[in-house]
Parts: sequence; structure tokens; C-alpha cells
Amino acid sequence: MKITSVSAMQVLDTREKPTVEVTLISGEMVVHASVPSGKSTGSHEALELRDADGGMGTAIANVEGEIASLITSREWSSADEIDTALIALDGTRDKSRLGANAILGVSIAVQRLFAEAAGVPLWKAIAERGGFSAAAPRLYLNFMNGGEHADFRLPFQEYIFVVGGKTSEAYAIAQDAFAKLGTVLKSVLKSNFNTFNTEIPMGDEGGYSPKFEELEKPFELLAALVAEHSGTSIAIDAAANALRNDIGGYTLIGKDYTPDELRALYAGLIKKFPFHSIEDPFAETSMGDFAKLTAEAGEVIIVGDDLTVTNPERIKTAREAKAITAVLIKPNQIGSVKEAIEAVQMTRAAGWAAICSHRSGETDDTFIADFAYGVGAHGIKAGGLGQKERREKYERLVEIEKEAEAV
Ligand code: PEP
Ligand code: MG
Repeated sequence: MKITSVSAMQVLDTREKPTVEVTLISGEMVVHASVPSGKSTGSHEALELRDADGGMGTAIANVEGEIASLITSREWSSADEIDTALIALDGTRDKSRLGANAILGVSIAVQRLFAEAAGVPLWKAIAERGGFSAAAPRLYLNFMNGGEHADFRLPFQEYIFVVGGKTSEAYAIAQDAFAKLGTVLKSVLKSNFNTFNTEIPMGDEGGYSPKFEELEKPFELLAALVAEHSGTSIAIDAAANALRNDIGGYTLIGKDYTPDELRALYAGLIKKFPFHSIEDPFAETSMGDFAKLTAEAGEVIIVGDDLTVTNPERIKTAREAKAITAVLIKPNQIGSVKEAIEAVQMTRAAGWAAICSHRSGETDDTFIADFAYGVGAHGIKAGGLGQKERREKYERLVEIEKEAEAV
């Protein structure tokens, strides 16, 4: 593979914040890739390089300068070879010199080039690269947004409707359930506030964001939807880093909980509602509390996100502590496709589930859908259905279903 042109530009994500889009050219092939951006980030994530004013000037200069010089300088035999060279060129543990956003944009575009050169769909190239059996992931749809993504109108960050099975059928169920939830929320808001203004606020990830004082109310609403559709269940991302208080515990809707009390709260919720998984139930520093909950959660999957940040060292430590049973995989937490694939391989080696995820600031790039299908992930988190950039990920999975039937 000879790459002849490397360029980058600043685009805006769904929060209208700058992010980077990369374009690579090789012969007749032209590919693009853009990089999402998180808000509730773990402290061990790779560094997203931003200028003082929030812009992408330096990241773009790095792509078009040092990175372009390297990758146009010779022929390459694989995407892995280029990723290895990019990681070495940066030379830091957290990609802080060139920026994880700059490197990942190039890395995703490189993966696209190699797939196109081989004449295979992107998901298939990813499956072959990592030795995975490609398969449809469960859809984890963030129906109600809270936490940092919605000014804490709800205490937990994500109230998720999980749908398994064939993607086209799962997506149809999700569309129906999301519309139904909207109707129900309108009538609940109307009776709660006795108002004609029944506009439901939306959160960052295209989910509804009503405000309830009762902690269990969102679960009652989701459980009613689950009761209507077999093969569905509930998940949450507590994103508990953001719930910490300064007395060593957590605060939810004005009430303080010690870590043990919060664990008891989760145990009660699991007993009462049809739960599938809980992500980041405690802060990223509380590996021991994760392990206690995992030990008593039974079939309910405990997922590390801010805890593990798609980082091999963090996943290894979590494995030793038996802290979790699933790892959230976000390519931009680690900064290259190669390392994201390795994180999935490590997750599988631990006997755990891999759940691939978008970020709360998204673009129209649907790479994560191909990635989730290619690695045969347990699930994909791509937000609610109230935002185009979220729907596009699920819709790409429906396209992949058709491609997989044809190839
Ligand atoms: C998450 O916490 O799982 C998430 C998608 O949010 P963010 O991108 O803000 O980290
Ligand atoms: Mg999370």
C-alpha cells in the first residue's frame, strides 16, 4: 500500500465542539474518518489534543506534518504495521505528543484503505485482522439520558433498553419502544406538572431526559417496555465518577450513600427489575467495590468503562481483582485500532464480554458499528434514537446484516 495524500480538517461533533476528520488517498482510493469525543472521561484515557481555545489546529498540523511525512514515505504491508509505526512516532504512554485524536483518525482511515484494497467490507477486514468471528451485537440504546450528559436531571448517566437478536428486528423493536416511551413520558410530565408544555428535554446522546425525584421511576418505565418485547432487558451506565461526594461516598438526588449502601441499592434494583448489565457502578479508583458487586451480581454483567479505559494495563489489573465481567471498548480511549483490537482480545481471554461504544460527542462516522460487528461484540452502545448520528450507527448495523448475508 502506498499512501499518496494525508490531510485533516476541523469538523463539529454533536455538541458542536471541534473534532478532527482525516482524509487519506492511495491511488484511486479516497477514505475519510472522524473521531468522537467523550465528556464523562476516565482519568487514564489517552489524551485528546486540543488547543487552548478548544480547536484542532495542533492535532491537524500533526496529521498533516509528522504523521503525513511518515506514512507517505514508504510502502506498507498492513494496517497493523502503520499503527505500530504511529504509536512509536508518538512515543508517549498516553499519545499526548501527537494526540490520540490525531492518531486514531489516521488509524481508522488506514483500516478503511486496507479493507477497500482487499475488496472486503470494513467489518470483515476487522474480523480478519483480529481473528474474530464476526456477529451482530446486542443493541444498547440509551433511552433516557442523565448524569453529566443531561445536567443530572436523572442521577445515572444512561438508562438503556437492551435488545438482542437479528439487528433489523432488534432495531424495529427499538424504534417502536422509543416512540412509545416518548408518548408515555409526555403524559407523565403533563400529570406531574399540570402543564401544556410537554416538550421532553433531550440529553447529549439523543435520549429523553425527564426529571424525576423518584429513583426507581425510569426503571418502571423501561420495565414496562421490556414486558412488551421478549429478548429485551435493562442496563445502566451509572458513570459513578460523577456521583462521588467529598465524604468518601456518592450522592444521588440529594441523598448520600456509602459505597456499601450504593451496592445495596444496586442489589435491590437487580432484584426488582429485569437487568442485563451495570456499567461503572463505582468510581474508577474503587476496584474493590466493583469486585464485591461482581461477586454478588449473579447473571448481571458488571462493565468497566472509566475503570478500564480500553487500556491493556487497566484490563489486566481488573482481571487480577476479578472486578468486572465486561469491558467497554472505546477506540479513542486508547488511540488506535490496533490497540482497541488488542483490548477486545484481552477481554475475551479473561472470559469477559466486550461492549463497543460510541462517545457522547459523536460524528457521522459509523466505524464503531463495523468494529462491533467485526469483533463479534456482546453489545454496542450508540445512544438513543433522537439524534441522527446515533441512529446512523444502528442503521449501519442493519446494512451490515444485509452485506453479511450476501458475502
Ligand atoms: C460513557 O460514559 O459510556 C459514554 C459514552 O460517555 P462519554 O463519551 O461522555 O464518556
Ligand atoms: Mg460509561
